[in-house]
Amino acid sequence: MITTNFHTHTVRCGHAEGADETYIEEAIKAGITTLGFSDHAPWIQIEGEHHGIRMAMEQMDDYVSSINRLKRQYAARIDIKIGLEAEYYPARLDQLKALCARHDLDYLVLGNHFHTLEAYGHYYGGYADVEHLFEHYIVDTQGALASGLYSLYAHPDIFVRSLKSWTKEAEACARTILETAKAHHIPVEYNLGGLRFGGGGLTYPYEPFWKLAAEIGNDVIIGIDAHSPYDLTDDRTKSLAEANLKRLGITPLKTLTLIKPVKK
Ligand SMILES: [Zn+2]
Ligand SMILES: [Zn+2]
Repeated sequence: MITTNFHTHTVRCGHAEGADETYIEEAIKAGITTLGFSDHAPWIQIEGEHHGIRMAMEQMDDYVSSINRLKRQYAARIDIKIGLEAEYYPARLDQLKALCARHDLDYLVLGNHFHTLEAYGHYYGGYADVEHLFEHYIVDTQGALASGLYSLYAHPDIFVRSLKSWTKEAEACARTILETAKAHHIPVEYNLGGLRFGGGGLTYPYEPFWKLAAEIGNDVIIGIDAHSPYDLTDDRTKSLAEANLKRLGITPLKTLTLIKPVKK
């Protein structure tokens, strides 16, 4: 049974639905005792960027005040944490740290969605520069995991979506990523988003990737990646994930050790 979830979005990202409070109510119904909100981080836009999947910087105050108010209101029934799911953009790390400090965030999830900037072709789930896909994905992973900012690596197999087939090179990339996560003691996330959309084929969670994780001995945690309150009570995908991991010989972590990105 899943009793914690650290990957939860809110309506502010533009592709999620439901009131903040409904997420908490559904989490309680699901038997979740710790719920972490990690909506898509806002970034100050740079040239060539068009934000499609995240709140605007101006919405950050509302996000934090709403979750903190609910955290107090529900304190007796559930433990609420607040963080962000953020990319690793080396040129904008100071900006991210400032945001964490200003809002006293509990943790960051690495959502390695884009290389350098959020723009078409830079998405690791449909990467245009096929020749450099592995190189870029590995460099961003290594930089992010070495930064000490992130507590969890969300859908580390997202790059599989850019592949035409699972090759020796793809497997080598997966191995490097998983070994890097293990070396830094950062859990990798078995993401339920992919399962909700049907799963199978070249997408996450990708079975050969998780076979490797089992072999390497990574810490693995299930992430609901809720974009609707009802994802939290969706027993079908939670049971499927647990069965898949069991078959692979992986015992998922029950909870996550949060790394405070910027200590006060
Ligand atoms: Zn999302
Ligand atoms: Zn997410």
